[in-house]
Amino acid sequence: MAPFNTLPMPKSHKVKFKVIKNPNIYGCFDEHEMEIQISSNACGHFTTIFQTLLHEMVHLALYVRGDDDFHEHGPKFLRIKNVYSELYNFDPKAI
Ligand SMILES: [Zn+2]
Repeated sequence: MAPFNTLPMPKSHKVKFKVIKNPNIYGCFDEHEMEIQISSNACGHFTTIFQTLLHEMVHLALYVRGDDDFHEHGPKFLRIKNVYSELYNFDPKAI
């Protein structure tokens, strides 16, 4: 799935997914567990789930390539995010 098909990503069986209940975050990437978490109390629509998944996949991609600031939303994060925002017609200013 673009743009992640052009990035070094782990095999799918190496990444876990978990539904959490935290209403204060849409999701997060836990590098220790290699787990993407999506909050069912913050994401009520498919679009929100999809945007959150893509967002966390960027953090995962940055982590896998060894970026120390993989958890931040700096220029490296935004470079990938801007690609999927354009592809999937998401608000480019939303994080
Ligand atoms: Zn983030």
